[in-house]
Amino acid sequence: AFLEDRGAQKVCALLEDGGYQALMVGGCVRNALLGQGGTDIDIATDARPETVLALAGAAKMKAVPTGVAHGTVTLVSGGTGYEVTTFRRDVETDGRRATVAYAQDAAEDARRRDFTMNALYADRAGTLFDPLGGLEDLQERRVRFIGQPEDRIAEDYLRILRFFRFHAWFGDPDAGLDPEGLAACAALADGIDSLSRERVGAEMRKLLAAPDPAPAVAAMAATGILARLLPGADPDLLAPLVHLEPQVPTAPRWLRRLAALGETEAASRLRLSKAEIRALEAIRAAMADDTAPAGRAYLHGFEAARDAALLTQAALGQVWPDGLTAELERGAKAVFPIKARDLAERFPPGPQLGAELAARKARWIASDFTLRYRDLLDD
Ligand code: ATP
Ligand code: MG
Repeated sequence: AFLEDRGAQKVCALLEDGGYQALMVGGCVRNALLGQGGTDIDIATDARPETVLALAGAAKMKAVPTGVAHGTVTLVSGGTGYEVTTFRRDVETDGRRATVAYAQDAAEDARRRDFTMNALYADRAGTLFDPLGGLEDLQERRVRFIGQPEDRIAEDYLRILRFFRFHAWFGDPDAGLDPEGLAACAALADGIDSLSRERVGAEMRKLLAAPDPAPAVAAMAATGILARLLPGADPDLLAPLVHLEPQVPTAPRWLRRLAALGETEAASRLRLSKAEIRALEAIRAAMADDTAPAGRAYLHGFEAARDAALLTQAALGQVWPDGLTAELERGAKAVFPIKARDLAERFPPGPQLGAELAARKARWIASDFTLRYRDLLDD
């Protein structure tokens, strides 16, 4: 996929023509080997950030110094940004985020990365550089730490979460998690508390968006890691939910999977946005509402009503009922036939008018939207 990316080709050519190495690395190489796309293209180089900026300047390519302190410059080509990062190695660390220095070459750069499948490099001709056996691990669907798992986790505790995240996406669902990695995560789970909620939230979003996050989340629960991240989370509904989802025309939605974990402190623990909090609350409200399905879709919106129904059916171990999607769509499209001004002749503006309108709306919903304009003007 990255081989056809014209912007990436241009960025790599710029560096190579300047006499430097340019290797695409990480998610874009890993995903392309699996025949998937869907991730940013990151480029590693032996050129220093100042040099990258100078080369871009000379070629009139837009460059943004997005993280010069970490060796990263973003080059913009064809409207897309490409992160160009100088080869680095891990040096000292406080466990919250490894700090880095420049490395000699790609082989050294590879050793500071987290998992072997994330340490795959390719040049723009498509030649693979695989210094740590990542290709074989990728093919075997093994998420394996580079180096000693304990040491690598102690450098950056986010790697615990990334271990589960990459297992959910690329691991072997039958073989389970790499035992050595799992044991290290369990032993060092305390370190999670030192991570910023933004970083934890970003990883959890990606974990829960995986095709099937249930086995990884179950392993997190078994090791006590889930409770540390989201006190009160219950992983049991996740597997039946994921099993049911393909019966409904809907993209996997990470928020619905989060809702499946039950009442947690997700809003603050994962730094949810206002819109995410609203969407999560709508799912909960729709679940707690015993109105008929169409009414629930009218009151809480189609997505929340659909997600609530998925969670309810999953909890009951039942299939998605025929016609339920159509019912939800009907409710979501319903339009209340009267407005406040239709009652203005009979009630003065104020609280009484509002209450009359609300009472009529409740009757209308309870009638399954069959009451018409005329019916609703009567008492
Ligand atoms: P995605 O498709 O989610 O973007 P990715 O592999 O590109 O997957 P990123 O988080 O974008 O993941 O990181 C890019 C690369 O940087 C990784 O493939 C890995 O090599 C390295 N990396 C990122 N975060 C860490 C970390 N905390 N510790 C070690 N290496 C990391
Ligand atoms: Mg990435």
